[in-house]
Amino acid sequence: MKEFVRTIVDYPIKGIQFRDITTLLQKADLYKQLIDEMTEPWAKTQIDAIVSIEARGFIMAGAIAYKLDTAFIPMRKPDKLPGETFKVKFDLEYGTTEMHLHKDALDDHKNILIIDDLLATGGTALAAVKLIQMFKNKNIVGAGFIINLPNLGGENLLNNMKVKTHSLMEF
Ligand code: AMP
Repeated sequence: MKEFVRTIVDYPIKGIQFRDITTLLQKADLYKQLIDEMTEPWAKTQIDAIVSIEARGFIMAGAIAYKLDTAFIPMRKPDKLPGETFKVKFDLEYGTTEMHLHKDALDDHKNILIIDDLLATGGTALAAVKLIQMFKNKNIVGAGFIINLPNLGGENLLNNMKVKTHSLMEF
């Protein structure tokens, strides 16, 4: 799968090597393999809901939730969720943003898996962890990604917070 991830240099700003997964997703057999391999590590774990990170996390999280029989909870950028939300501001590898979860999104769910496409500095995944921690009595079982950029420290950051991580490849 790794050879189908396209690297675009200096996108969206100078100095970033953008790992483009669209070239992987456009292969039907590889999309299927991707979903199967992202699901497999969590198949024997009790998971009630997947918190998925806008927007590229949604591409995998819906299919993984279907396979694991879990709920699908979108974590979204400002002004997207219509109900009352909890929110967290955070820094990205490039820029800063804010993420929201509906305050009632996890009412029926205890064991939560986080899904996104790529783990870089961990700022985005950490925002998901902090948002989930705003709810009472939740257990974050782990966080799954297609790509990990270990040199940027996100994996260590999550592991230090006792959040288990899994990724299919590293750059
Ligand atoms: P971070 O918060 O630094 O871990 O960044 C992770 C988020 O930013 C993910 O949702 C990615 O979609 C996006 N992202 C960060 N760095 C890259 C990169 N080099 N290539 C592609 N996407 C990236």
